[in-house]
Order: sequence, then C-alpha cells, then structure tokens
Amino acid sequence: MMGTDNRGLSTRCVHAGEGSDAHGSPHTPTYTTTTFAFPSTAALLDVVEGRAAGSLYTRYGFNPTVQNLEVKLASLENAEAALAFSSGMGAEMALFLAHGRRGIICLGDAYGGTLELLSQQLPQLGIRTALVLGHESARLSELLDDGYGLLFAETPTNPVLEVFDIKVLADAAHARRALLAVDNTFASPVNQQPLALGADLVVHSATKYLGGHSDITAGAIMGGQELIAPIFAWRKNLGTTPAPETCALLARSLRTLVLRVRQQNETAQRIAEAFAHHPRIRRVLYPGLPDFPFHGKAAQQMAGFGGMLTIEVEGDAATAAAVVDRLRLFAIAPSLGGVESLATQPVTTTHHGLSDDERARRGITGAMIRLSVGIEDARDLIADLRQALDG
Ligand code: PLP
Repeated sequence: MMGTDNRGLSTRCVHAGEGSDAHGSPHTPTYTTTTFAFPSTAALLDVVEGRAAGSLYTRYGFNPTVQNLEVKLASLENAEAALAFSSGMGAEMALFLAHGRRGIICLGDAYGGTLELLSQQLPQLGIRTALVLGHESARLSELLDDGYGLLFAETPTNPVLEVFDIKVLADAAHARRALLAVDNTFASPVNQQPLALGADLVVHSATKYLGGHSDITAGAIMGGQELIAPIFAWRKNLGTTPAPETCALLARSLRTLVLRVRQQNETAQRIAEAFAHHPRIRRVLYPGLPDFPFHGKAAQQMAGFGGMLTIEVEGDAATAAAVVDRLRLFAIAPSLGGVESLATQPVTTTHHGLSDDERARRGITGAMIRLSVGIEDARDLIADLRQALDG
C-alpha cells in the first residue's frame, strides 16, 4: 500500500516527519526518555489501548524521535508505514518471524548474515527456508507452488550486482499468495522504489546509505500498515527498537540522502568507465556499464545505478589483496554506503564463511574487489585505484 505524500524525494527527506515541535525547532528534538508521563489514567489507557497516538515507552517505539523518524522512513519508500530497528539484521529477523513462518525463499546472493540466519538459525525454529540462485527459476516456481509464503531478494546483489526484475518477482509471488520483500540496501530509495514495482515490503540496513556516515547501526522496514502491524509486535518483544540517539542521527543523515547518493552514483559511473578496459582488470561489474549483462534490467527499474561496483583483477586472491593493500584513499573495510570510500575482497569478508564450491556456484572469485564509492572527488579515487593497480 502506497503513501500519500506527493512531494519530491529531496523535499520529503528534509521535511517528512519534522516541524511540529512545541518550541519551534525545525527538526525533531532527541527525546532520550525511556518512559512518558500522562495527565490521567484515562489518557494513559487511550494510548495503551490504541485509541490515541502518543508517547508511552521507547522500546515500543512510542517516542517522538522514533516515531517522527518512521514517518520520514515511510515517505522515502512511498509507504503507508515504517518501523525503525537497531540493525538491519534486527529488521530481517522481525520480518522473517512475522511473515516467514510458511517458509522463506531467498533468491540470489544475499548478505552473509542473512544467509546464515536463513540456512542455520531459522530452521532450528522449524521455519523452512530455501536459498535459490537467479538462474534456478524452475526451482523458485516449485517452492512457491509448495506454499512458501515469503520471497526475499536483494537487488542489486552483493557482490556481483545481479539485478532481479522486481515486477516479475512480485507477480510470481502474488500468483501463489506469497509476499515479496526486497532488501533495498544496495540501491537505496533514491535509485529504486520496490513498492512502486509491486513488492509488499522493503527492508534496509540503515547502517549503509540511509545512515551514510559509518557512525550508526540501524535498520528499517517499510510497507502497508496491515503487513507492518505484525512486524511491530515482534519488534516490541524482541526489543530491537533503536535508541532515540540513533534515530536522531539517522533522521539527520536522511536529510542529505539524495545529495549523497546522486554523487555516489556519478562517481561510481566514472570509476567504472575509467577501469572498464584497464589491462590489469578482467571485468568491471557495474549496472551502469552498457555491456554489463544486467544493464538493461537495471535501466528499466532503477533511477540511478548506485555507488557499489566490483572489479575483478587479472590474477588471484593474492593479486587482489596486494592491490587492496596499496590503496591509500579507499579504506580496507567491510560495510558500505558511507561518505568515505571502502574496498573489500568478498572472500575475506562478506563471503568468507562460504566453501570454495559455494562461492564458485555464486560466481564469486578471489580476484574480486568490491568498492563502496564515497563522496570524495572522483579524480582522487581514480588516481588511488590506478596507483594501486599499477604498483
Ligand atoms: N542487508 C544488506 C544488503 C547488508 O549489506 C547488510 C550488512 O552488511 C545487512 C542487510 C545487515 O545489516 P546490519 O549490519 O545493519 O545488521
């Protein structure tokens, strides 16, 4: 179900959820309060029993700093409702417990923690899960026919930037009464709007582009009120509501989301083009390159191609490690989406736990270096990569 704020995305990033402070603060103050006082028992019961909106207890999310952030988060994805979480994994766990109990299919590559949760931990609770790769569409259909209730996918994927057609996935899921949830972390709401393409729910690691400064850990889920309500109940008792201080930082970061992401798109495109034919590079994987296999699909459903790209050097994991070690401006670090550029080898971080065979099945090689492009000057980043490759 879509939201009703028709203003542009930049306007919503700045103004949604703000501006009702009694003292005239242009943005929501940070209520570091855990509990809120009421003028009477009747007023307290109105909030407890859901007749009135209001502040009550911060773990419930009933705190103005949390709630106003959630108005902004919902508006980013044009959703009816949103919930903030203490991490992306906290968001995923609540999503899976609320909507995944008929079975969860994870399509394509996903963040390592998500794969671990799905393959090792949720089955211990009796929840059936299946990991299906992009080319295994027959298997996807079989599982949906078998009654699996939740289809979950990242797009573009990490680290090979595979792009899935969200509309096609939504139609396939809905034809079998399943839900589609999209992890929109890599694209960000600036570049992709999964709900508008038919997804039922969107999940974010807000630690990445939404937070944008590598200084907060947070998560978010956006969707229609009816689907958000059961997730709220799980969040409340899992205790994965973010602290008001984190919410205030996230709200501040969101005001510049569009500026940051558009810059990151532009710089990533320039880097991809600069190295597409470099003699020490075998392949540049980036949805914005016209000869990238998923370029057409990305151009159809994305407003920008994102700030993530993967380069595969000529050589092996040791060659790639030597290149990474020579970088001066790119920091060697996992995570992504911040204003500072980061470089990481998937085999040493995000996909370290997988066997060689499993990595090969997913098309991940030791020679790959994943770059999260920040907002530094493109020419400095290009010069840094050039000296590291030439070294
Ligand atoms: N989804 C994606 C695509 C991620 O990259 C990550 C973390 O790297 C997560 C979810 C988990 O988020 P968090 O680290 O905020 O729990």
